[in-house]
Amino acid sequence: AARSSAELIDAEAPVLAHNYHPLPVVVASAEGAWVEDVEGRRYLDLLAGYSALNFGHRHPVLVEAAHRQLDRLTLTSRAFHHDRLAGFAEGLAALTGLDMVLPMNTGAEAVESGVKVARKWAYDVKGVPGDRATIVVAAGNFHGRTTTIVSFSTDETARAGFGPFTPGFRVVPYNDLAALEEAVDGTTAAVLLEPIQGEAGVVIPDDGYLAGVRELTRRAGCLFVADEIQSGLGRTGRTLAVDHEGVVPDVVLLGKALGGGIVPVSAVVARREVLEVLHPGEHGSTFGGNPLAAAVGSAVVELLETGEFQRRATELGAVLRDGLDALVGKGVVAFRARGLWAGVDVDPAIGTGREIGERLLREGVLVKDTHGSTIRIAPPLTITAEELQEALGALEKVLASG
Ligand code: PLP
Repeated sequence: AARSSAELIDAEAPVLAHNYHPLPVVVASAEGAWVEDVEGRRYLDLLAGYSALNFGHRHPVLVEAAHRQLDRLTLTSRAFHHDRLAGFAEGLAALTGLDMVLPMNTGAEAVESGVKVARKWAYDVKGVPGDRATIVVAAGNFHGRTTTIVSFSTDETARAGFGPFTPGFRVVPYNDLAALEEAVDGTTAAVLLEPIQGEAGVVIPDDGYLAGVRELTRRAGCLFVADEIQSGLGRTGRTLAVDHEGVVPDVVLLGKALGGGIVPVSAVVARREVLEVLHPGEHGSTFGGNPLAAAVGSAVVELLETGEFQRRATELGAVLRDGLDALVGKGVVAFRARGLWAGVDVDPAIGTGREIGERLLREGVLVKDTHGSTIRIAPPLTITAEELQEALGALEKVLASG
């Protein structure tokens, strides 16, 4: 007999690494903004796979693209060319206003690859002496979980027990141009930042900060690498979060929604001068740019070319903002929002983010906490205004009963 949710949760503990603490829900199927558990209970998904599901669960256009590709060709490795890769790269370069693409799989791989490319550029193009390149990053960052990436994390939980760490990183406060100016020098290969810090709680820098970073890096002769893995691809109401300030970075890192919630697809997208530093044998990935990934990634690019999802994020973002505004003082202490993306600080007297998440689960709404009493709201961009209102109603109820 099929196992119940409770049985499946119990069955995980002895056989799965405990590196996550999931909410007690066991999802068995999903469509659009809705997921259904093993017992047939339905929930509105306000996490959307940490924004990997910007187009909702099983968007028909993306599922169709995947099915079509599954029936033709799934993997060649980069030892050979395949017929889907050129179109994917052309589309992604055009969408971002950049020149060249390095396809990878996960977000962390895109960040790792961005770090390698920035260092190589520093030596080959800028002329930094060997092994002396530095990369300036921001406190509160989240760029992934590899040993090099946690080397420049400021989250002790992410680092403790995983040293020794990779040298060559300088950490400055986020949203502080003066500190950045001071940290940048002749050894600086790049400034690597999230345009909005997602895991930190949807932390949005002051207007002008990203334009200031662009201006400063141009003047200092180093690269501006924007990690748009969570903020990019429609979430904030624009294709990229940097678009809000009309900024074009030298390098944009993409992931999550690039795979349409179907396959892991990530990419380093950059100016020609930057990605041109890589030569055969210097970097690679067996699965990076595989035909299935390229087919789904191309379909994602085509969805974004219509502008429909960016528009929905803006319009639904206004609904979200109004709804949260009405809850300030009624359990919500403060919130930060851009497009269909919000970090909501709940009154700690009502509960931790985790506890709010558990209570919302019982009301049929899935959210994830970030730190302390902060929850994040990032529904699929395909959610309807009515569904969003329903979720906000559940939040109001949970906060009132706290
Ligand atoms: N960069 C940012 C801004 C992220 O939000 C994340 C994931 O949350 C990553 C990188 C890492 O992506 P992945 O989990 O696919 O390795």
